Amino acid sequence: MDCATDTEVQIAVGRARTAQPAWAALGVRKRVAVVREFQRVLQEKKSEAARLITREAGKPYAESLLMEVLVVLDAARFLIENAARFLRDEPVPHGSVAMKAKTGRLLREPHGVIGIVSPWNYPFSIPAVEALAALVTGNAVVLKPSESTSLVGRGLGAFLHTAGVPEAVFQVVVGDGATGAALLNSEIDKLVFTGSVATGKRIAQAAATRLLPVVLELGGKDPMLVLDDADLDVASSAAVWGAFANAGQTCLSVERCYVHRSLYAKFLESCVEKTRRLRVGDGMDPKTEIGPMIHERQLRVVEAQVEEAKLEGACVLAGGTRLLELGRNFYAPTVLADVTQEMRIMQEETFGPVLPVAPFDTDEQAIRLANDSVFGLSASVWTRDPQRGEALARRIVAGTVMVNDTISCFGISEAPHGGVKASGIGRAHGRLGLEEMVRVKYLDVDRLPRMKKVWWYGYGEAFARQMEGFIDLQFARKWGARVSGALRSAGAVARRKV
Ligand code: NAD
Repeated sequence: MDCATDTEVQIAVGRARTAQPAWAALGVRKRVAVVREFQRVLQEKKSEAARLITREAGKPYAESLLMEVLVVLDAARFLIENAARFLRDEPVPHGSVAMKAKTGRLLREPHGVIGIVSPWNYPFSIPAVEALAALVTGNAVVLKPSESTSLVGRGLGAFLHTAGVPEAVFQVVVGDGATGAALLNSEIDKLVFTGSVATGKRIAQAAATRLLPVVLELGGKDPMLVLDDADLDVASSAAVWGAFANAGQTCLSVERCYVHRSLYAKFLESCVEKTRRLRVGDGMDPKTEIGPMIHERQLRVVEAQVEEAKLEGACVLAGGTRLLELGRNFYAPTVLADVTQEMRIMQEETFGPVLPVAPFDTDEQAIRLANDSVFGLSASVWTRDPQRGEALARRIVAGTVMVNDTISCFGISEAPHGGVKASGIGRAHGRLGLEEMVRVKYLDVDRLPRMKKVWWYGYGEAFARQMEGFIDLQFARKWGARVSGALRSAGAVARRKV
């Protein structure tokens, strides 16, 4: 792969900057029409897009369709339905009596050029959802896809250009971390980054030196809490899918599972049985449920955590080995029991097909364990009683908590996606994702242009008393004091101002 140099990145950003005003001037309706056309093109070419993703990232073809193409088509639907309303001026009614003569509005204007740096695990849906939100709000975009999935990044560019996005308004620069750093240091107006905590911190430091606004969508260690009244069959299927979808390389994966002690043994048994039935293999085979990991480096991280957990007393009930007969990047879906909270596998992001399961005794303890993490991306609670689930969900520190489901919130285009604590800053998807793509301008118009303001110069003893009266008029607790304040302040309007 030829990495784009600093100069090439600067040229791309310069082109984007030149092209952006005309794109913004087109107006939201015409930009929405382009998004609609993109949606039509992608729907028509869904199989081509999914094959490209599976070939480059390895995930099963069904997951490329459902967790990538479908997510993007629905995000386009959300923008088609909501972008014009979102960009409409928003009135800001004034509560203060002194400000009643003014009209206030919020204007949402594009930042200019948005840089997007994206990871390999959802190489299509992550940059596409972010890019569509940036484009529909009038920004130009320069995307730096992961070095492991640059073909998918380029493919996204081709779909957008076919739909009518001008080439200079959406550009793809391919390369590794150095190209990402070049984009970060170029004349972009905002950076939307999705990736690891380590890179996110480096980006935040560099961005701070020039106060570049950034969105950071980082890693997670998402807990799954299976309460004593959960449906065991449903919850164990959820754990297996939630931990192993995309070979566990999902930011919202079930990374640690806590099960009420009364269900623990049966839950493990069910997970093991379901895990053993999974078909691991080539993602292009429609029967495949788990594909290879993205690269051996990632596999070694997973392997090291599992081996360390074993040494510390964890019990491997399924998997726990490479599947060399399938290829060097295949790791068997793994179920671990007897894990403890101190183990690295319960603290650090694993990002592989591993389901570590630990028991708990009380809801209080479950909440404590869920919140015992530097991360706070998402979490799930499993119970037959949705009210009980919601009560617990409110106490979990995370960007998203799902009751009786996992991961699928990423496919809800209206729902904001993002984390707290080390999982990042800012949101993607939905209205909050759109807010990241605009800068808000407050526009204030005074409707009495021929009148000097009451609070301008010409201070003195009388004015001070009038203002005391004015404060009483608005905030005194007793009505009598308010009336007296009104009488004392009345003269302020007529007083002579400088
Ligand atoms: P990564 O941090 O290694 O790389 C992400 C991107 O940043 C790549 O495009 C890479 O080339 C680029 N990059 C690397 N160094 C850079 C630098 N110094 N300056 C600018 N760009 C740089 O992450 P990854 O391995 O590609 O992705 C996996 C990680 O992403 C996991 O931690 C996962 O949890 C996280 N992730 C988070 C979300 C979310 O929405 N919160 C979604 C998907 C993935």
